[in-house]
Amino acid sequence: MNNNFILVLNCGSSSLKFSLINPETGTTLLLGLAERLLSEQAMIKIKHDGKKEQCPVPSPFDHESAILYLVAHLKKLTLVDCITAVGHRVVHGGEVYCQPTLIDDDVKTAIKNLARLAPLHNPANLTGIIAAETAFPTLPQVAIFDTAFHQTMPEKAYIYGIPYRLYTQHGIRRYGFHGTSHYFVAKQVAKMLNKPLAQCSFISAHLGNGCSVTAIKDGKSVDTSLGMTPQEGIMMGTRSGDVDPGIIFHLINQLNYSVDDVENMLNKQSGLLGVSGISNDCRTIETAYTEDHNQQAKLALEVFCYRIAKAIASYTASLITLDGIIFTGGIGENSDLIRDKILAQLSLLNFKTDKAANLAMRFGQSGLISTPDSRSAWVIATNEEWVIAEQTFQLLNQQQDF
Ligand code: AMP
Repeated sequence: MNNNFILVLNCGSSSLKFSLINPETGTTLLLGLAERLLSEQAMIKIKHDGKKEQCPVPSPFDHESAILYLVAHLKKLTLVDCITAVGHRVVHGGEVYCQPTLIDDDVKTAIKNLARLAPLHNPANLTGIIAAETAFPTLPQVAIFDTAFHQTMPEKAYIYGIPYRLYTQHGIRRYGFHGTSHYFVAKQVAKMLNKPLAQCSFISAHLGNGCSVTAIKDGKSVDTSLGMTPQEGIMMGTRSGDVDPGIIFHLINQLNYSVDDVENMLNKQSGLLGVSGISNDCRTIETAYTEDHNQQAKLALEVFCYRIAKAIASYTASLITLDGIIFTGGIGENSDLIRDKILAQLSLLNFKTDKAANLAMRFGQSGLISTPDSRSAWVIATNEEWVIAEQTFQLLNQQQDF
């Protein structure tokens, strides 16, 4: 067996996604998810060799136990020896980390300090790093930052219209997220166009539970809709995206909301869930609309698509040329309805949906969904894990060359 696989770890606040990937081909040998960590319902799912296993686990089960479980499983399958490094998804790299980075004590301290900008994510990422170091003490550990791809944004795109000292003294600026996904899909379309990525300009829409739109000019991110936190921009599954900040003062001063109530409402009760009153899951909302003619579901889909189309149109201001739009993420990859509505809203920019191609594009397929006389629109199945494996491998190779 090929002896070069990267173990990719993505630690969420109560979950751990893992995969064992060949960085050169993207072949995935094993993948899985440990979820509901630290709860009675904790469980781990592993897929290997076409077989899926769902295993109950002892309680309490945390990130460290999940990694130890994974190591024992890898040993049982005699897969440990083929792992050459561990690549970690780290959500916030601030302004310092714009490249894949070999993890040492200074990097861990920086990830910890950056938790002030990503309090839900960076601590979980750090827990995963420490647990992986204990489990694989001889393997290099590499951090790939979700913010890194957007570090090429110009100042005019990342500075908020608030006192400048809040940026210089406290780092309050726009950072953007989902960078690995936007980079991957742009690279894939560049390949399809047979052009170097550095000569391509796209607007990519990552539409999943979290959503963001990015303007990519000459292969680099020049603007993106998520900001200092993953709260800004377009409407998402449960997050509001942009709202008038005056609403926050109104809720607190007139409606007696506490700050925690407002945060909870904007993060967990808004977006598709808040407007539809049904679910944050796009499939459930689409079914309520198409089968039950539910008017709230219809409105949620309309607001969602209109806001995305507006964001896409606004990003044409960041570009000189546009090779096309790219849809990705769970919704972008699977929902012909959402893609069709967004493209219809953008007819002034000459986007026209090829209905049959659009309908056929789902379940991990990638391809063009626009008509020959339209500006191009693609669906690309994202693969952030492959980017993490590839960049981990490249970094370690570069270091050996020195
Ligand atoms: P992600 O966060 O990228 O995993 O995406 C999750 C979102 O993708 C959820 O809102 C799902 O409802 C949505 N999704 C997945 N499959 C479909 C589908 N076939 N049609 C519409 N939405 C889908």
